Amino acid sequence: MTPSTDLNIPLFERAKALIPGGVNSPVRAFKAVGGTPRFIKRAQGAYFWDANDQRFIDYIGSWGPMILGHGHPAVLDAVQKAALEGFSFGAPTEREVELAEEILGLVPSMEMIRLVSSGTEAGMSAIRLARGATGRSKFIKFEGCYHGHADSLLVKAGSGLATFGNATSAGVPPEVVQHTLVLEYNNVAQLEEAFALHGKELACVMIEPIAGNMNLVRASVPFMKRCRELCTEYGALLVLDEVMTGFRVALGSAQSVYAKAIPGFKPDITVLGKVIGGGMPLAAFGGPRAIMEHLAPLGAVYQAGTLSGNPVATACGLATLREIKKPGFFDALSARTRSLVDGLSAAAAAEGVPFSADCEGGMFGFFLLPELPQNYAQVLKTDNARFNTLFHGLLDRGVYIAPALYEAGFVSSAHTADDIDATVAAAREVFKTL
Ligand SMILES: *Cc1c(COP(=O)(O)O)cnc(C)c1O
Repeated sequence: MTPSTDLNIPLFERAKALIPGGVNSPVRAFKAVGGTPRFIKRAQGAYFWDANDQRFIDYIGSWGPMILGHGHPAVLDAVQKAALEGFSFGAPTEREVELAEEILGLVPSMEMIRLVSSGTEAGMSAIRLARGATGRSKFIKFEGCYHGHADSLLVKAGSGLATFGNATSAGVPPEVVQHTLVLEYNNVAQLEEAFALHGKELACVMIEPIAGNMNLVRASVPFMKRCRELCTEYGALLVLDEVMTGFRVALGSAQSVYAKAIPGFKPDITVLGKVIGGGMPLAAFGGPRAIMEHLAPLGAVYQAGTLSGNPVATACGLATLREIKKPGFFDALSARTRSLVDGLSAAAAAEGVPFSADCEGGMFGFFLLPELPQNYAQVLKTDNARFNTLFHGLLDRGVYIAPALYEAGFVSSAHTADDIDATVAAAREVFKTL
């Protein structure tokens, strides 16, 4: 397509004049990979179409929520009915109770839940709750994990374990991040050292169990086990950020995957988002009654939201959860995702491209590295230029993966074996050029 016929270009120009960078969330701007972002007009099933009516196989699924693909009939029906009944009341509804029952029935570590509108809000509120419930200020997070953009979470490691973090964003005062300790993911020795130094002052450890914001890196079983043990020993809370993994990697979320390897494993607080809204703004955090009762109006930890538990969003989330609960859903989704990862790995091997990949449920990640990285520093060893060639090669062939190498990918139940085959064939062509 020549620039004069690419309709995304004038749209991007219009957007840039009005919206910083032309986007309402930075990664959409294609800054990492270069080129013009595609403006999406519509979507159906596993596909979406851009301003030129070019079709793409969608592997970002709105960054995770679209686990049923786009426009699933049962979800559309629920949303249309809910919209006719009213958009927002600012008063309780039965559907919020139904969604709470549905989620708590699937994730037994939670006895109570609070619904909010975004993962950022949920993560920020979970930290406040952990601090309020323990009466402590400090907390641990890990390099490469993303928990939304609350001030105290936009932090990179300081120098050494005695110094706390440095803000990664302008506008975040040093005082606000002075209680955030940033450690290396999957580093048991460092975690133990940090607890020995600060354990009694820690409100919580917050972690993405299967990190999806440094592509895909799993917390090792021994690491997760030590997180749990040390939190229990020192009276800190273990906060699992399952905004991405929740109802995406398994029906019981990532905590059910770890509970298979660590008997009795459960977090104190779970943070959810993405899939539970099915594409509408909806997120949540929950845990045992004794912790959740610290929240207003019962307790002293304040938290509120005008659109929290929105009636249209809850209808969308409920309809989505009811579909993924059906017998065999996750087996089929996992097998499809596995076939993509295996196909890509075989194609890379055939073309002699260093490649490693992993998946769980409907979430996958791959690296142009010979071995799967275990932490953020190892992820950074990926060659950006080669990734960008791969990204644009796939995009030109109608395959849309995340426009940044730090992002996981997502397969939906609408992706067919033919979609996977077409994707692998496209990748093999691009691998030849790497
Ligand atoms: C997406 C994400 C968030 C932030 O959610 P938003 O709805 O974008 O605010 C938080 N944590 C994790 C693990 C995420 O993947």
